[in-house]
Amino acid sequence: MAAAALACQSSSAPPAPVAAPAGPTTSAPAPRKGYPVMVGSANALAGMKLHYKQLVEGADPLDAAIEVVKVTEADPDDTSVGLGGLPNEEGVVQLDAACMHGPTHNSGAVACLENILHPSEVARLVMERTDHCLLVGEGAYRFARAHGHPHVELLTEATRKQWLEWRERHSNDDDWLPPTKDERNARLGRTLRDVAELERAGYDHAWGTIHCSALSVRGEVACTTTTSGLAWKIPGRVGDSPIIGAGLYCDSEAGSAGATGRGESSILSLASATMVEYLRRGAAPLDAGLETARRVVRQVERQARWQGALMGPDGRPSFGLHLYVLGLDGRTAGVTLKGGGSYAVADPERGPRLEPLVALL
Ligand code: ASP
Repeated sequence: MAAAALACQSSSAPPAPVAAPAGPTTSAPAPRKGYPVMVGSANALAGMKLHYKQLVEGADPLDAAIEVVKVTEADPDDTSVGLGGLPNEEGVVQLDAACMHGPTHNSGAVACLENILHPSEVARLVMERTDHCLLVGEGAYRFARAHGHPHVELLTEATRKQWLEWRERHSNDDDWLPPTKDERNARLGRTLRDVAELERAGYDHAWGTIHCSALSVRGEVACTTTTSGLAWKIPGRVGDSPIIGAGLYCDSEAGSAGATGRGESSILSLASATMVEYLRRGAAPLDAGLETARRVVRQVERQARWQGALMGPDGRPSFGLHLYVLGLDGRTAGVTLKGGGSYAVADPERGPRLEPLVALL
């Protein structure tokens, strides 16, 4: 299957031959050239540094990908996911996550899940222990608790203060009074810088998510995406991360892909399924990402006529969207609608590292 996909890959050259990874066990399957590979959002780098080795040793790609994202889910300093994720407009952290497994073409997901540290693991339980694809809210929480996941408060002191800052300042027409400058400094400490940066960037909402796609030594693909979603969102809002085809998708006949950023644009374009379909038709990963980004921009131009909010004064989308692509031959790409940034990659040749995203605009 991988050979067939290799044969139809078109644009850039296949990866240079690389030394076989130093697999420590005799039972590990023989690695193929250029395998195994991981690709994901920049915040997946810490997890890749710890868990790429597992993939080298022959792990199932979904096991390894979930281990990668769990590192960030448990990191209180990453405000985009899991513990310390920014909450909704009521100050409650609601998590979305999904996973997809190429070899069995199955998936699982949770949305609006509260008080559970590892939504990616619960998504895998949905895949493995039910015949459903998606559980939400209270039902997802009870399912997680039934499987032994402990109840955890995910709002940290730092994110509670950021939420309070947002709550008091976002409207002059309610009864919440804005803090004085001194109160802000005392309250936010180092987080004041983050808020100021967001304001400078023109964002009234903060984004962030972690995605990881993996290609095993046997050429099998899998992926996972996990997030606390859009900061200050309306309670109950679900983004693209738990939507199969939007925030992630893989197919063992084509490859794997994921998206982070404005989830609504990824849902409306089915960004990840679209990238995988481009791969299936022979596109190189970079072309698959760029073509999908072009499609998103065309769609947003149509939406902007009636919403009037998604295009900036410079005629470019005013939101961010990052796309991650992994071909069955081990080639990867990271694409962004505009601006800079980086994505995480791990391969046998150079190990885990950050690479620059290619900007469409
Ligand atoms: N895509 C996520 C969502 O829409 C957020 C993000 O990636 O920043 O919920």
